[in-house]
Amino acid sequence: MCQAIVGDASFYQSLLQLDQAIAADVQAAGCQHCGGRLHVADYPRKPRGVRSALDASYQYRLSFCCAADGCRRRTTPPSVRFLGRKVYLGVIIVLVAALTDGLSSPHRRRLIDRLDLWPQTIARWQRWWRQQVPASRCWQALRPRFVPPVEIRALPGALLGRLMGDDLVARVRQLLALIAPLTTTSWASSLPDGGLPQKM
Ligand SMILES: [Zn+2]
Repeated sequence: MCQAIVGDASFYQSLLQLDQAIAADVQAAGCQHCGGRLHVADYPRKPRGVRSALDASYQYRLSFCCAADGCRRRTTPPSVRFLGRKVYLGVIIVLVAALTDGLSSPHRRRLIDRLDLWPQTIARWQRWWRQQVPASRCWQALRPRFVPPVEIRALPGALLGRLMGDDLVARVRQLLALIAPLTTTSWASSLPDGGLPQKM
């Protein structure tokens, strides 16, 4: 199942549409520092691991620069595609960290080979999920919405298991939207979260 998601071009298209919708809201709100107009100033990116399923839109992370003289500051909207500066896409960092624990070793081997991953990389992602994510403002805001609390040492699988959705694709998409504020340091506000219930 997770191999199917990782290779699914239509899934990546749906994430692009979410990113475009978030970016349109951020651009419409204007510069957070001076209220100036935001001009497109996308970052070039080279996501690793799944290139055959990605179109040209994945060579850029959506970003803006303030057009006002004397400000010119950057605003990078939250993203459901790119997780900060990590070279792998967010979906891979969610799925691999969530599922490699539970996969039997031939499945695990195939996924790791396909994505060209080092075991150290996976261990680093798991540490990120279990140490940096719980310490983040984003997580502090999310945490009270889950009763009983999500088990930190089982992130991100424990979070994935608590989300609602018809299938894994829907839950992964929801998880990426919830953690999207983690993906930027140059934008701080709150996202409309698509009618998620207060307690999950
Ligand atoms: Zn500005």
